[in-house]
Amino acid sequence: MNVLVINAGSSSLKYQLLNPATGALLAKGLCERIGIDGKFTYKPQLEGKEAIKAADVAMPTHNEAIAAVLNALVDEKNGVIGSMKEIDAVGHRVVHGGEKFAKSVVITDEVMAAIEECNPLAPLHNPANIIGIKACQQLMPGVPMVAVFDTAFHQTMPPVAYTYAIPYEYYENDKVRRYGFHGTSHKYVASRAADMLGKPIESLKLISCHLGNGSSVTAVDGGKSVETSMGFTPLAGLPMGTRAGDIDAGILEYLMNKYGYSIGEMLSILNKKSGMEGISGVSSDFRDLEEGAEKGSERCALAREKFAYEVKKLIGAYAAVMGGVDAIIFTAGVGENDALERMQIASGLEYMGVKMDEDANNVRGEERVISATDSKVKVLLIPTNEELMIAMDTASLVG
Ligand code: ADP
Repeated sequence: MNVLVINAGSSSLKYQLLNPATGALLAKGLCERIGIDGKFTYKPQLEGKEAIKAADVAMPTHNEAIAAVLNALVDEKNGVIGSMKEIDAVGHRVVHGGEKFAKSVVITDEVMAAIEECNPLAPLHNPANIIGIKACQQLMPGVPMVAVFDTAFHQTMPPVAYTYAIPYEYYENDKVRRYGFHGTSHKYVASRAADMLGKPIESLKLISCHLGNGSSVTAVDGGKSVETSMGFTPLAGLPMGTRAGDIDAGILEYLMNKYGYSIGEMLSILNKKSGMEGISGVSSDFRDLEEGAEKGSERCALAREKFAYEVKKLIGAYAAVMGGVDAIIFTAGVGENDALERMQIASGLEYMGVKMDEDANNVRGEERVISATDSKVKVLLIPTNEELMIAMDTASLVG
């Protein structure tokens, strides 16, 4: 079985063709500048097939982008399948499923309407995801489609975790609550962790640290998300590449009054000019911060230290929430690649049974145990694979 995984944004579309049973990746690529001029990238993963790198292809709408993807996949010379019939299902990443979707779901007209109802909760993302679904439905009639939500995994959080301490009507009438994001990634690495530890996931208390440009930490108790650091929006929780994470809401009023910012300008500062970039004044990228710190920039060093400090705080908090922890997982760009940052996060956690193995930790993007053999709490490096998780969910739903 082959599943086409689509991650549609407003002007871009990422895709992968996968075999969920074997995990084999057949091809992947990216359509960019949709609605502008159109750039198409196609990377077949089979030997002897040639890649297309950022070719100009007119893409006035997502329909032309999907058409370009399908043409490349079945291309006589460099395609990876004989015909469209070999695409058995399409899995779509959808950012927000609100409280309606606690699981992935086969897309029907009713499901489309329910996803549209979640649009106000993710106005930048959900409408683009819907456009991607509609374009596929038009070009691939009869092929089953599945929606996989970033929020779904976190729907198991109890009310005490998702309720904000503001007037309760805002939850009842306006659905203001913690939703959490990166659910597909947290779910994937938690399930890999259980495999690596050779224990049923139902018996494990895991803390999953998805640390990338956007970052979140999730407490996974018995396979279920019970707490997570992102909130009503992905602006909450950890400081990130350019996002502030949790701050005192009173700061907004103070700065808006002082500098005459509109709410839009204030949010733009919190989303795009804060986090690692805001503290360092140099970059949102952890590699640049490391270089800056090595050259003596105190603000670059402070940014990295602040990030590690906040991740460590969440690990302590989530161990408290679950009454213990069996394993801590590091994943995503920073979590998979930045050995120094991982050491900084883990240092000081010895009291709770975390003992790192420096040599094992000195690695990039490889699935392995990075704690010492006698560490009570295991520390795992697990490269995330959201596309494979989407393909696996899709396959399990369409059979
Ligand atoms: P996104 O949230 O956009 O999916 P990623 O998970 O791809 O982000 O993470 C991107 C970030 O990972 C980069 O901004 C960079 O800070 C970090 N990163 C990537 N490679 C390395 C590396 N080799 N060393 C340290 N940090 C890295």
